[in-house]
Amino acid sequence: MKKRAFYAAAAAAALFCLAALFVSRSGVGAEPAVSENFRLGTYVRLSLYDFRGAERELEKADELIKSLENLFSVNIPTSDAVRLNAAGGAWTRIDARTAELLDMSLALAELTGGAFSPSLGGVTALWRIGTPEARVPSDGEIAEALKYTDYSKIELRVENGAHFARLPRGMRLDLGAVAKGYIAGALKSQLAADGVSRAIIDLGGNLDFVGDSPRGGPWRAGLQQPERPRGEYFGIIEAEDTSVVTSGPYERYFEKDGVRYHHIIDPATGRPARSGLASVTVVDADSARADALCTALFVMGSRRAPEFLRKHSYIKAVLVTDDKKAIITPSVEKIFRLTDASLSLFVLGEGE
Ligand code: FAD
Ligand code: MG
Repeated sequence: MKKRAFYAAAAAAALFCLAALFVSRSGVGAEPAVSENFRLGTYVRLSLYDFRGAERELEKADELIKSLENLFSVNIPTSDAVRLNAAGGAWTRIDARTAELLDMSLALAELTGGAFSPSLGGVTALWRIGTPEARVPSDGEIAEALKYTDYSKIELRVENGAHFARLPRGMRLDLGAVAKGYIAGALKSQLAADGVSRAIIDLGGNLDFVGDSPRGGPWRAGLQQPERPRGEYFGIIEAEDTSVVTSGPYERYFEKDGVRYHHIIDPATGRPARSGLASVTVVDADSARADALCTALFVMGSRRAPEFLRKHSYIKAVLVTDDKKAIITPSVEKIFRLTDASLSLFVLGEGE
């Protein structure tokens, strides 16, 4: 389950602990209509403001989440992901939305030089981190699984409006680092199409804000202090009509013989990334991109992530290092405030 925060939003204070903290500045505005469900292996909370027919809209949103989970989950035997994994290298018909997610995933894998990879399913299935069966695989098992992770070999095609995909034999998808973001984006589109102008979509801390806050300014998302109890935050992001996503090793992990193994895998080694980072937050209008980028930046780690961010200066990111630095991109300077004095703040300069 996930990370970083809990809600202090007007009405429904703290029924669940969630990943990024939303703070209502003044409590101004109508109380939201809220739904809370366990979906996607996490707590999903949707809050709609100022909308007539909110109850039906929330039900419709939950139906959309369930239908997309049924396509993307590796734990649902009839999902597109599982059917592709089991197809033994054959072309397989998939839903248009799975095709879109795969297409985006391949572009994001390319952008991040494979630090985000949609094809780590064989590796994550060995570790099973986040489940009671989590274990440390042998070197041989990892080496064998890594043979089937070259995402550039994934093929997609469209024929008479029908979508098909083919994975190399032996490859297994795991869309866990991007699908929540994609689903947040799909929910946002549905809400907008139905006339909702103000809402918070929280998929286990993968946040997407629709419109502005009830007091008329940006929403405020508190970023979870890694290694501290949920709800303690180190800084605040102000966000309007955008997504705020955090990845970190601090909630989904297990310990064996005194070693902590977390769930963000370095595709180069097939093992939990030795990152030097304690958390990564990305702010992006496109929640799928935010989701995949935070995972990728975490894998790149304290050395390579700043380099990548300098090169791709449109990315808005906040990195927290193991040695207690908060490193931000110039693009978040105006929307981020550090609230924890135990961290020192660095703004990434260009070409440093
Ligand atoms: P992120 O950093 O966004 O993603 C990390 C996850 O992505 C890992 O858990 C792994 O699955 C995968 N991953 C690891 N390293 C990489 C990498 N380098 N590149 C790409 N991917 C990587 N959880 C359950 O416990 N039970 C469920 O039944 C369940 N069903 C789910 C169904 C769907 C459709 C989705 C989207 C998620 C589901 N989850 C489930 C949760 C899933 O395991 C989450 O991805 C997990 O909670 C981690 O998400 P995150 O945002 O914390 O981390
Ligand atoms: Mg992610």
